[in-house]
Amino acid sequence: MIWYPYEQMKTMKQPYDIIDADGVYLYTQDKKLIDSISSWWSVIHGYKHPALTEAIREQASRFSHVMLGDLSHRPVRELSDKLESFLPGDLNYCFFSDSGSVAVEVALKMAMQFYTNQGMKRKKVLSLTNSYHGDTFKAMEVGDDEDYHFAFDKKEDVIHIPTEIDALEDAFERYHEQLNCMIVEPLLQGAGGMLMYDISFLERARQLCDEYNVILIFDEVATGFGRTGNRFVADLVCPDILVLGKALTGGYIGHAVTVACEKVFRAFYSDNDRHAFMHGPTFMGNALACSVALKSIEVFETENYMSKIRNITDIMRDEMRGFADERVKEVRIMGGCICLEVKESKTLDGFREFAYERGVFSRPFGRCMYAMVPYIIKEDELRHILRTMKDFYK
Ligand SMILES: *Cc1c(COP(=O)(O)O)cnc(C)c1O
Repeated sequence: MIWYPYEQMKTMKQPYDIIDADGVYLYTQDKKLIDSISSWWSVIHGYKHPALTEAIREQASRFSHVMLGDLSHRPVRELSDKLESFLPGDLNYCFFSDSGSVAVEVALKMAMQFYTNQGMKRKKVLSLTNSYHGDTFKAMEVGDDEDYHFAFDKKEDVIHIPTEIDALEDAFERYHEQLNCMIVEPLLQGAGGMLMYDISFLERARQLCDEYNVILIFDEVATGFGRTGNRFVADLVCPDILVLGKALTGGYIGHAVTVACEKVFRAFYSDNDRHAFMHGPTFMGNALACSVALKSIEVFETENYMSKIRNITDIMRDEMRGFADERVKEVRIMGGCICLEVKESKTLDGFREFAYERGVFSRPFGRCMYAMVPYIIKEDELRHILRTMKDFYK
């Protein structure tokens, strides 16, 4: 029997059985549904994209996977070269892993060992309230989301602050000698409630991290590849370590990467074996994943995705103009993301079924009714999703 994610198995609703998928559409036996959440925000090019599918087919005809211990291959080399030029600053060192959570663990281990390799101990991590960084243990500790973490103890080595510059300055004032890193979901906090904040907070964080030699980590597992309306938030403020996942492979295969800057890499590069980075997921650098990720980035670049995303933002703003309902606290829009935050989570009961009847797949959580659409969505399809959201309040 399948044990489903984030569900009380005793009361969970029947999942929709998908038998085919194409473009923005998911197909059940008798329904055609627009996927308004891009399979957890990853399927940016839609399903069954001919070029992506072909990239996998082509690589599978050679080999699907070889380990990276003592072996290497062209797809993983090409992808790391591509990321080196595609990403800002000196984010040049790519450590691959099989999921976003693991890539976050890798980033946090790198930040901690950055100091121990230099004979220093700095134990504390600064992170944000309402943050989500994955479901593995350290990722959970730096995260701050009751719904995910209530069953586990809070750890003292993590300090959570709101996205306010005063709180940021205060935390650095008090803890800077003990901080090894600060980790954030930049501009858009996803699973913690689709919260959006200003770039000035990150600019100040960059200054303070420089001043006190604290590693700045951007978890762009969700925000990377255009979701905030920027290619990467790292284009605006450059972190020391960048974590990418979800859309990295266009949502085709689970894969992620932790990209370190020169300064971080240099702290590991030495004649001392004990300075090596001791981590190595079995499937890191998987050849199918790397091939499809390369193709995904190529399509993203050549088909002018940033203008597609600007269009999506414009349509969202246009469709939501003048919308208000007493049950809805706020409508937030950024890049390819829209969230209607309601006052009471129970008012979202029944929305999944309401949307299904109208040919839209949606999965609200907490107090968020939201959409994170594939970037290839057409205007009428996007308007249909947005009207479905509004019509729920008629
Ligand atoms: C989804 C997500 C993760 C975890 O990625 P998985 O591939 O599910 O392990 C980490 N950080 C952020 C910001 C995410 O949205």
